[in-house]
Amino acid sequence: MDLLNKKPTFDGGPAESNPNLDPETAQRLNPLAERFAFIPLSGKIPLIKGWPKSKGYSIDDLLKYQNCSTIGARTGLSTGPLLCFDLDGESAWYWLKSRGMVLPETWIVARSNDAWRKKLLFQPSNQQINQLTTGEFTYSQKTGDKEQIECFFMGGRQIAILGKHPSGGDYIWPDGFGPERLAPPPDDWWDLIVEFSNKFDRKRPISFATTSSGDWVRTSYCEICNRNERTICSKHKDGNSIRCFHGGTFSPSTGLKAGDLIDSTWAYVRDQVVDGIGTFSIFVRHKPSPAEQLWRKLNG
Ligand SMILES: [Zn+2]
Repeated sequence: MDLLNKKPTFDGGPAESNPNLDPETAQRLNPLAERFAFIPLSGKIPLIKGWPKSKGYSIDDLLKYQNCSTIGARTGLSTGPLLCFDLDGESAWYWLKSRGMVLPETWIVARSNDAWRKKLLFQPSNQQINQLTTGEFTYSQKTGDKEQIECFFMGGRQIAILGKHPSGGDYIWPDGFGPERLAPPPDDWWDLIVEFSNKFDRKRPISFATTSSGDWVRTSYCEICNRNERTICSKHKDGNSIRCFHGGTFSPSTGLKAGDLIDSTWAYVRDQVVDGIGTFSIFVRHKPSPAEQLWRKLNG
């Protein structure tokens, strides 16, 4: 199957316009629910604390979960196992095409309002996993201006698989590419996975600076990612800002937009790349609106 000819239309079909968290569609995840960790999201943001270690919810519970607009799935070795390629923009497809890659026959999560953004999901075989010297990893390959291919295979990384996207579009499964089709990566995709995992190994910081500096204090427990080991996330002395580290086991959500809230308390500001250490996401304490302040006053 030719990558670009098959993409981006998927030739329509009823699955393209399914409403989100339509029970019938969501129940198609049931056969996977025991091995996978499905978690409730609002848009892209997990609605539960400690999600990087969550064992996941049943589909029935997710359909009933308050404010759940979207179902997420943790990636990595211990759930599924589930590996995700996130193709983020037109240049990502040309990058893959230039390597001679073809569209795999597996589970695909598409976006109703953006044909160039799709997630390709795989379940690597045991034999393949044994070839990964790094175990879990994530990697981002830049392919254009603000466009990239991201590869997620890590318990602290989750992906939205069904429901509402914050932009107003939907996460959908193109006809013939539903969860029933989840498959191990074919050889060409597996080669790319191994290549990405090796690059991740080289990029991994060897040691973290261990002291707090200036007005930032390293926190033994991070409210954003729930990190409670290898202290690296830090909080400003004034208590109103957090720098949360993108690590292997613990990591903030990716794909947040400025203003997105974590636990209704912390608003995402931006990412910050620190040479030799890695990426941090910066959050500031959310100031409640006047209406929210009034509601809080009335409701104690
Ligand atoms: Zn953190």
